[in-house]
Amino acid sequence: MIYTLAIIKPDAMKKGFKENIRAEILDNGFKIAEEKTIHLTKEQAERFYAVHKDKPFFIELVEFMTSFESHIMKLEKENAVIEWRNLMGATDPNKADKGTIRSKFGTDISMNATHGSDSNENATIEINHFF
Ligand code: GDP
Repeated sequence: MIYTLAIIKPDAMKKGFKENIRAEILDNGFKIAEEKTIHLTKEQAERFYAVHKDKPFFIELVEFMTSFESHIMKLEKENAVIEWRNLMGATDPNKADKGTIRSKFGTDISMNATHGSDSNENATIEINHFF
């Protein structure tokens, strides 16, 4: 699978990091096959994160994802899912390896700058969600 879905989340968009993160993506050998900036609706955010609907942080997650615009990208590279997750770093920016995008641009486990699909199967579902 050569595609994955990436999102520059509202925290990073609000702080003006969109172009910095796009540049990191391109510098690391990804192509941006498709992209668009949208302000997620509550319904879109709830559907996108439906797998987390029973988690204690679900309401907070939906509020965060609908708080500002997001930049949605279909990324292309050999082994795209793993490559993009490696470049993003761990979910919690404070635990993410130095030099990763979440370490550089994220704040905490909620406001962690970017999203990436976690499997080829989910990448296909998530890409179809937006493109
Ligand atoms: P990911 O695949 O690395 O994005 O991590 P998960 O699938 O576990 O979580 C999805 C998203 O939910 C994360 O990227 C965070 O934005 C958010 N999230 C995860 N864990 C927590 C938490 O404990 N508290 C809050 N507020 N948000 C969380």
